[in-house]
Amino acid sequence: MKLVANVKLLPTPEQYELLKQTIERANEACNFVSSLAWETKTFKQFSLHKLAYTAVRDQFGLSAQVAVRCIAKVSDAYKADTKVQRHFRKHAAQPYDDRIFRFLNDSAVSIWTVGGRIKVPCVTGDYQRELLKHRRGEVDLMLVRGEFYVACVCDIDDPDMIETTDVLGVDFGIVNIAVDSNGTSYSGEAVEAKRRIYANRRRNLQRKGTRAAKRKLRTLKGRQARYQKDINHQISKRLVADAKRSGSVIALEDLKGIRERVKANKSQRARLSNWSFHQLRQFVTYKARRAGIGVISVDPRNTSRTCPECGHCEKANRTERDTFRCRECGHTAPADANAARNIRAKAVVNRPNGNAKLGVAKVA
Ligand SMILES: [Zn+2]
Repeated sequence: MKLVANVKLLPTPEQYELLKQTIERANEACNFVSSLAWETKTFKQFSLHKLAYTAVRDQFGLSAQVAVRCIAKVSDAYKADTKVQRHFRKHAAQPYDDRIFRFLNDSAVSIWTVGGRIKVPCVTGDYQRELLKHRRGEVDLMLVRGEFYVACVCDIDDPDMIETTDVLGVDFGIVNIAVDSNGTSYSGEAVEAKRRIYANRRRNLQRKGTRAAKRKLRTLKGRQARYQKDINHQISKRLVADAKRSGSVIALEDLKGIRERVKANKSQRARLSNWSFHQLRQFVTYKARRAGIGVISVDPRNTSRTCPECGHCEKANRTERDTFRCRECGHTAPADANAARNIRAKAVVNRPNGNAKLGVAKVA
């Protein structure tokens, strides 16, 4: 499986300037190559190289290998289609290969700049050092919020699947961001409060509509996205750790259901559209895969209105938002924990005595 390690560079002010000039110059070159490609309808790397290489080197003062990477980057950008001319942002990520970039050790890299090769300190944590042993091919130089990073693709072997004897069902988004079939809930009030604060601030800024407000809105959106990502990382990490401890595969609902399931309630909709469940699902999936745990996708239909005790399924079982109440047998439980149990049940293929046999279930 492929994972990306983002390694932060710690350049001196002079080095920072050089890196900045380099990334800007490279993107200018890419825009030049892109317009050349566009005008002559030449999109294949080989032909584009013949056409643009000398000009790129002469006009932009880039090293041979950087020129090659720029041409490849432009050709790549036209791969999806050649219907519109591609433009590159001033600080768009710039690919580097082993001839112009390498790690000197865990705490320094050697990288080509318009001022020649420089040796720049970097920071790596334990997790990144482990990943970097499996680094493959190119890295991307990125300038993100004023800091330089190199994004390194690492290709690690899939771990062996651990032996599982149970299923951990996980429900997303009714009251808490996630609740599992053991009744453990994740996030809840603190996160919800923060989400509301963000939503309010956004609304106020949108109402103002001035340029300053728009700028603030952009930073706010970025901050909210980072907060959300952080919480999604925490939740997925705990879910996978729990599954591992109990020897369970993880069952998640197909996300198509999540919106229609809560059609009725407006505040609920706001909550859902303001949280990236898609991202959470991705995080759970790749963390599970790294831990050797399978993830099963289940059809979410009726998971919120079925009674896990007697199997009775009726819309009226869920008249309240937060609570499930079976009209048949009277079983009452928090709505999300109930749904998580149903998701688990759907994933358990053969369960005459409650044991999960997972031979047939589709593992995503
Ligand atoms: Zn019942």
